[in-house]
Amino acid sequence: MDLPEFQDLMARTYGERDAARGQAATIAWLAEETGELARAVRKGSAADQLHELGDVLAWLASLANQLGLSLDDAAARYAAGCPVCRSIPCTCPP
Ligand SMILES: [Zn+2]
Repeated sequence: MDLPEFQDLMARTYGERDAARGQAATIAWLAEETGELARAVRKGSAADQLHELGDVLAWLASLANQLGLSLDDAAARYAAGCPVCRSIPCTCPP
């Protein structure tokens, strides 16, 4: 599944609830799921980490849908590599 397909799936699955919940609550959920991902990275299994990556991606797609923006367009910022130095791999000073 590519990003546009995933974003559309999230819109069809959760779009109505997302609209009722609103952007502020969605940001809060995204932050909470990001915290759960951080915990899974620190002390979870690969299965836990995959689960949390999926949840973060789902909430990110829900937010993009509410903003009327495309994750594919957002990813395009990195299409030519690092948006600062325009290189692959990045050659920016650490
Ligand atoms: Zn760079």
